[in-house]
This record gives sequence, structure tokens and C-alpha cells, in this order.
Amino acid sequence: MDKRELLIGVPRVPTVLTLIIALISIAVTASCSWAQETKVNIMPETLQPGQVNLIEINSPQCRMKPGEFCNATLSFQHHSIPLKEIAPGRFLGFLPVALNERPGVSYIEVHLAGADYRSVVRKPVVIKPKKYREQHLKVSKKMVDLSKKRLEQVLSDQKAVRQVCKGRIKDILWESPFIWPVDDPVITSPFGLRRFFNGKPRSPHSGLDLKAREGTPIKSMNNGIVTLVRDCYLSGNTVAIDHGGGLVTLYAHLSKVNVTEGEKINTGAIIGLAGSTGRVTGPHLHWGVSIAGIRVDPKGFMAAASRKP
Ligand SMILES: [Zn+2]
Repeated sequence: MDKRELLIGVPRVPTVLTLIIALISIAVTASCSWAQETKVNIMPETLQPGQVNLIEINSPQCRMKPGEFCNATLSFQHHSIPLKEIAPGRFLGFLPVALNERPGVSYIEVHLAGADYRSVVRKPVVIKPKKYREQHLKVSKKMVDLSKKRLEQVLSDQKAVRQVCKGRIKDILWESPFIWPVDDPVITSPFGLRRFFNGKPRSPHSGLDLKAREGTPIKSMNNGIVTLVRDCYLSGNTVAIDHGGGLVTLYAHLSKVNVTEGEKINTGAIIGLAGSTGRVTGPHLHWGVSIAGIRVDPKGFMAAASRKP
């Protein structure tokens, strides 16, 4: 284990003896053998704004007896993200870094809770800067300025999308592997693109655009529950799928929607057809990935999800 990691393991219902052991273990963290068994592996080790890292936790001591429970939660920048147990005491999950996160040293915390076990592992992480491309466009005033009524609609759409992106489904429904929403994906506009309309900065691209002809089947990236089907002014027919544990995907500008809110779907389910609804210049799929409400690069997410721990 990294020497800089701080680990404190304390039994949940301390007797006098266990309390003494706990105090000794706090005092001699570096030589505490059972506590040292928790391993935190972040892949890759460097974090970047807008990107995602795969995190793996190995904590056999959290689940000493078969059938006992053990939960692991990741805490980062005031966000709490549950991790998925893939084998007894072994967890996988995603560490999202917000696009506006400042470079520098930060800390993650992993909270482990078993039947008779509580532990917190604190680990430093380095956030390195990442430069995103700029795009300067000259557009007609009509495209930029919205009437009061339209603006109200856009704000209401954004509120609804923000709400579902926080994730409502506590249970983790996703499982490996994850799939791209279209076959042979071609990116036409990347995530994080810093857009300027007539010289004025707009919000950076919150998802990525994939080439898709009108009518192209759009597939769900993984198992989940449909939590939003909405005709939005800017993003047209928009579908949100909650994959559980804070992971949510968005699919926009659809010409046809095949699913309804509350519907449970599996990886690869055709949720609708690509189109050009909303304020767009041509058919394509706008695809968004959000973890605990943080929008991240879908391409970076797919790279993290396909890493072998
Ligand atoms: Zn887009």
C-alpha cells in the first residue's frame, strides 16, 4: 500500500478489548497487518478535468465470513459514489473529475462498512491540467438570442435533466462490458469543446456528438431504468437512463423514442432512432455520461470501463 495512505480500522461495537486493539491499531497504523490489507488502485493514476478513472478496492478483511455484507463508497470533492462488489471484498467503480476542477493535489476517501468492520482509506490524487479545443462560430442573432418564453423552456429542460443526472437508483444495475450507443462510432464533436458564438463564450460541450444518419438505431450503453423522456427545446427528444449508483447516460436529438419513463432495459436495448430534433444543423447523436451529477467525457468513460484491473 502507498505509505501516504491513511487508514483507520475500527470495529463497529467496541468492547473494552476491541477498543484497546483499535487504539493500538490507530497508533501503529503502519505496522497494523489486517488494516494494511485494503488496497486502492486508481487506473490511470493521474486525474484530469472532465475525465474518468477506474478505481479498484481490495478489502478481504471487510468480508471475513461468507454471506456477510460489505459496502464500499468513494468520497471525492463532496460527492459520494457507491462501488460495485465484483467478488467478496473486491470493488470496482468510477472516479469522475469535473470539467472545472482545478489542477493540484486532492484526496479521495474510501469508506468500507462490513458486519463488524468500519474503515476509511484516504489517498492523495494528482489532478493534471487538460486543454480542450476551442470552436469559434459566427451564427445569426436568432440562433443565440432566445425569447422570454423559449428561455423559460430551456431553463426548465435543463433543471429536469440536471435532476435525473444526479442519479435516483441506489442499486448498481450496470455490469461489464459497456457498449457504444452506435455501431462503428465516429466522433464529430468532442466532449469539453469550448464554444464561442460571435465571440461570446458558451458552456462547454457537455457530451460528445456521434455521426448517425436519420433513423440509426440508438442503443443503451448498459442495463438501467429510463428516468427521463422529454422533448427539450435545445436537445430535442431526449432520453436519460439511470444505470444505478450515480451513473446516468443521456441520448439527444432522437427522431423516435422507443421507451417510456420507468421502463427497465438491458445493455444494447434500442431506446430510439437518431434524428435532428431540437436546435441542430443536421442528424447526429448527442451522448452524455454523468457520474453523481458530474458530466464526464463519454470517450474517456469507455476507456476507463474497458480497463482490466
Ligand atoms: Zn452535442
